[in-house]
Amino acid sequence: MNLTDLTIHQLQAQLRRRDVSAVEATRAYLERIAATDPQVNAFISVTDKVALAAAEEADRQLAAGEAGPLTGIPLALKDIFVTEGVRTTCASRILENFIPPYDGTAVRRLKKGGAVLLGKLNMDEFAMGSSNENSAFGAVKNPWDRQRVPGGSSGGSAAAIAARLAAGTLGTDTGGSIRQPASHCGVVGLKPTYGRVSRYGVIAYASSLDQVGPLARDVEDCAVLLQAVAGHDPLDSTSVDTPVPDYDGALRQGVKGLRIGLPQEYFIDGLDPEVRDALEAAVAVYRELGAEIVEVSLPHTAYAVACYYLIATAEASSNLARYDGVRYGLRIDRGEGLIDMYRQSRAAGFGAEVKRRIMLGTYALSSGYYDAYYLKAQKVRTLIRQDFLDAFAQVDVLLTPVAPTPAFRLGEKTTDPLQMYLSDIFTIPVNLAGTCALSVPGGFSAAGLPIGLQLIGRPFGEETILQAAHAYEQATEWHRRKAPIE
Ligand code: GLN
Repeated sequence: MNLTDLTIHQLQAQLRRRDVSAVEATRAYLERIAATDPQVNAFISVTDKVALAAAEEADRQLAAGEAGPLTGIPLALKDIFVTEGVRTTCASRILENFIPPYDGTAVRRLKKGGAVLLGKLNMDEFAMGSSNENSAFGAVKNPWDRQRVPGGSSGGSAAAIAARLAAGTLGTDTGGSIRQPASHCGVVGLKPTYGRVSRYGVIAYASSLDQVGPLARDVEDCAVLLQAVAGHDPLDSTSVDTPVPDYDGALRQGVKGLRIGLPQEYFIDGLDPEVRDALEAAVAVYRELGAEIVEVSLPHTAYAVACYYLIATAEASSNLARYDGVRYGLRIDRGEGLIDMYRQSRAAGFGAEVKRRIMLGTYALSSGYYDAYYLKAQKVRTLIRQDFLDAFAQVDVLLTPVAPTPAFRLGEKTTDPLQMYLSDIFTIPVNLAGTCALSVPGGFSAAGLPIGLQLIGRPFGEETILQAAHAYEQATEWHRRKAPIE
């Protein structure tokens, strides 16, 4: 078996037994990236030297018997995580040459755990998008069909797992950016509860929605990665000081007696029949495993996309005001004064979708419109959160589609932003509610494209969705299929 085919927990066992060294595993990934990534474009930067140095250190720790769960495991990061001394672009021209002076908290925790960082992954510029086509570094190709998008915005993070270019990755999810690409690439992706993982050192898109989470080959690997990064951080005042459970320990409890809710508003006309079939088959699997299936309602679902595109753009317009060419990032100064320097730097540095979002958000926040748009959206957000809390009074988890269709073709939706925005219709409500959800492989379309299932949990109920996903995964074979790419 190839080293790059192993899950994190399989590789971890081999490293512990010293059947393989961290340097060998790292070399195997670096070679595969060099050979295969040109077909996928998942990486913006590959950090060979840093990776091999970390692998040597991991081997010393392994030899000394001091290894933790991630010691010597080759991982990669969405290029939204600031990394000390390693270029961090957020897939934007405006940060093309930005080299941060520090590591964010999640990165620091991975490094402290002994992980080897292979490089930085492609994404939609500033995490705005659902297809990875909004990257200044070119689109990512779906490893299952290179004519198709991998999803976004963490498209590089999902494609790197599917193409076996990293053992695990981190992404961020503001409206679906971990779950939707995980679904389109046939991998597992988890968005934790808002406040579960520190956002310190994660470039901000919409601060009240952004959350860090893992993408991996199976549910157990996701639990391992979440364990490493979760927990309170004094450097992020929105990170919550509540104990981190033993996620791996929760995995094998089965689903007997678990109440699984099917929100009727998620089974709408626009749902692709193959996605609907996959959901129905999953319901049958859960029934067989002893779960109880209950119909529930999330009545404000229809307002979620509109509500999200007001709140997210408003926060983005404020967050992105810092890119003005003064302290860091691209500066274009033709000597025509400060205002012109701002204007030229931002005009040249931001892509079209980012500009669209800044304009929408600035409008929603402007005097006279604030109450009509932003404030009203905040009220709708409260109603959406309440829908979820009401549903969780009746059930333990919710089972829904991740995306209305399997991966669409490159270029198919680029001319119609509204169509693109609608790809997140089933993921966005979870971010507005601030709760947790994951995508787990749930089948394939006739054309051979992966279809993900979404499991949504109570706030800080990551254990339960991991447990429910693990039970399904053990009862099915979807996660074992390999994307056809060599
Ligand atoms: N596609 C959504 C957007 O463009 C979600 C992106 C994300 O979760 N970062 O805003």
